[in-house]
Amino acid sequence: MSTILQLAETTYGEYRAPVFQSRRFTPAALHALLHVLAVGSSGLLTIEKAGTSFEGRPISLVRMGSGKTRILLWSQMHGDESTATMAIVDMLSFGLRHRARPEVESLLRSVSLYFVPMLNPDGAERFQRRTAQGIDMNRDALALVTPEARLLKGLQAKLKPEFGFNLHDQELSTVAPTKELTAVALLAPAFDAAKSDNDVRMRAKRLASLFAAMLRDRIPERVARYDDSFEPRAFGDNMQLWGTSTVLVESGHAMNDPEKDSIRKLNALGILHCCEAVAAGTYGSTDPSAYEQLPFNGKRAYDIIIRNIRVDHGEGKTTTADLGVTYQVDTHSEPTARLADLGDLTPFLGLKEIDGRGALVPAAACSLGNAFAWESYVKQG
Ligand SMILES: [Zn+2]
Repeated sequence: MSTILQLAETTYGEYRAPVFQSRRFTPAALHALLHVLAVGSSGLLTIEKAGTSFEGRPISLVRMGSGKTRILLWSQMHGDESTATMAIVDMLSFGLRHRARPEVESLLRSVSLYFVPMLNPDGAERFQRRTAQGIDMNRDALALVTPEARLLKGLQAKLKPEFGFNLHDQELSTVAPTKELTAVALLAPAFDAAKSDNDVRMRAKRLASLFAAMLRDRIPERVARYDDSFEPRAFGDNMQLWGTSTVLVESGHAMNDPEKDSIRKLNALGILHCCEAVAAGTYGSTDPSAYEQLPFNGKRAYDIIIRNIRVDHGEGKTTTADLGVTYQVDTHSEPTARLADLGDLTPFLGLKEIDGRGALVPAAACSLGNAFAWESYVKQG
């Protein structure tokens, strides 16, 4: 009998949900897909309406498995962070495809997986971070002014899950101190400002450690730890406080993978791997050091770097410099390119690298932090 991880990895191409062509998909498309999966599942998947968003869109709770240990997984509380939503559909498809395998039967007898894919459908409809009320719902765990936050807190109170997976996409980051892109960042959130440990958080650290070790075997140098400062308004931190051992999984970036296919797959594999350890009870003996030794996220990448362009100051004066251009100033995907830095950017990586030799940009256009129409100055490679 193989492990769940081996099975999930070797057969990924068989069950990977083929419908997602892009990271941007509508709540309606997701719901249609979930219903098709549930209807064809002969009861393996049950789907219920957990609530509605501010604008009245349904938010679904999908259950797979019938075991005693409850695991709650939620994605896309930030509407433009859809990578893990696709991974959730992959995990559901995995269960459907392999339900008769003894290792999968055993998993689904031991744990009940409760998925809330796309917690913020109004934001997802617009592909924006915040909810329709303009609120960042991951800063609304205490004030609870959004129906989406009330729903998530209510689910935690009702289900009292032992474990939680808080699934996000992060801004473009590198693994400190290198310029390797962070593909996945993990966190066992703190529940107080002193970053204390208790049993709840230690369990989360052990799970995060399993996840981290799995990732390091596959993508060494591209795994990081997310900022571990206590944020009293965030859900991960409060879930930990409320007794649910929670792992934050932040999908990052990979070169030449704009739709994040490789990272989506790693999400599904890592979570299934952790669920198997929960089901088997083996996570309890996992050394947390693979997690605790992860380097933190750093900032050594821009969306675009234009190398060695000449900046024209007039009167025949020019400066040769690299330009760092970003589409990710406050959110993860702004429509407007902005100039983030100018100078020697050798220690930085561009998701897209452009050779600017021979091109000229007026100094007046190079205003840091402002919109920058880079396409007007260089040939796109
Ligand atoms: Zn997020």
